Amino acid sequence: MKLSEKMQRLHTETAFEVLARAEVLRSENKPVINLGIGQPDFKTPPHVVEAAVRALRDGHHGYTPAPGILPLREAVVNDILTHREVSVHPDQIIVVPGGKVVLFFAILMFGESGAEILYPNPSFPIYQSVIEFSGARAVPIPLLEKNNFAFSADEVLNMITEKTTLIILNSPANPTGGTAPKSEIDKLVAGLREFPNVAILSDEIYSRICYDQEHVSLLAYPAIRDRLILLDGWSKTYAMTGWRLGYSVWPPELIEPAQRLAINCHSCVNTPAQFGAIAALEGSQDFVTEMNQAFLMRRDYLVKALNSIESVSCTLPNGAFYAFPNISQLGRTAEQIQNDLLNDCYVATVAGTSFGKYGEGFLRFSYAASLDNLKVAVERLQRYCNESVLRTNN
Ligand code: PLP
Repeated sequence: MKLSEKMQRLHTETAFEVLARAEVLRSENKPVINLGIGQPDFKTPPHVVEAAVRALRDGHHGYTPAPGILPLREAVVNDILTHREVSVHPDQIIVVPGGKVVLFFAILMFGESGAEILYPNPSFPIYQSVIEFSGARAVPIPLLEKNNFAFSADEVLNMITEKTTLIILNSPANPTGGTAPKSEIDKLVAGLREFPNVAILSDEIYSRICYDQEHVSLLAYPAIRDRLILLDGWSKTYAMTGWRLGYSVWPPELIEPAQRLAINCHSCVNTPAQFGAIAALEGSQDFVTEMNQAFLMRRDYLVKALNSIESVSCTLPNGAFYAFPNISQLGRTAEQIQNDLLNDCYVATVAGTSFGKYGEGFLRFSYAASLDNLKVAVERLQRYCNESVLRTNN
């Protein structure tokens, strides 16, 4: 068989490889601590599960309209009004099987040979993979530690050429936990007036997991609303990664092509899951508050503990549930350290380079894990660092 040439350009997510290796070690009874995985270690709230089960019992077994049932899209509209103070029309909402699908659709719409798409680096590896798959050139926006892993608006504006069709932004960010300051977003939006044909995809999947400053949504900027695609969903906010549910907001011009992609790709989202999604948005939000309180406590512990290790330093992440410590002083590549930690210390993390070349010298720690497990992981890392220093000195 001969696979198409574009399949050579489609890559994967190393986090899944780390997960598979961690599972093998666990099956050999090794005491693995998994800080590699990007999903909350909480269970979906029971009232959400109940709503989906009830929908199945009530006979909601058929297809729904491709963008999702109207009560769900209305619930999303109300949620956007509550959390972003922006009014959108239910027709602009397309519910999808996971936020990932939104970026796939947006990149397919704007990516082709000869086009350039700007994307953050380090970032969710699927951006670069799908951009290259589409035939477009993937142009990295460097996210640097010295800027708290936020983009520089001037730098982004300088990177735009006549070939640029789409800019992807992600705040709070995977893998750094960094957030874009409002001042940089203001500056970027002002500068984008010069480039009216460039679309923007704002990946806000971690919008509800923010600590020290409120989430700033790009949807709140009227100047770019006619070319902004918003990605958000239930996966992280309500611990629903396995439900495969996400939503998107499209500007009027892109609703029809987005619906066409949905019809060609998945027809509609799993019907009972859509009922669960309504319950998540309209029910009590205590779960979200409690989960975020747990994440905050873990973040504060982990970042302090990482900074107490001599050869490691870690900036304070403002959002998501990731810490992205600098491990460059250990004298090995991020990938070597990831493998050492997993195979010798049984701590699963993900090398910064899995998220792009600007991730060299860093490791991603997901603190979607209990405080006890985080403590053991830090002890093991401390031991590994001590041994590395001894090895270097000898
Ligand atoms: N965007 C970012 C930045 C992510 O980290 C993830 C998942 O890890 C997604 C999108 C995809 O989310 P979903 O599981 O809803 O497809």
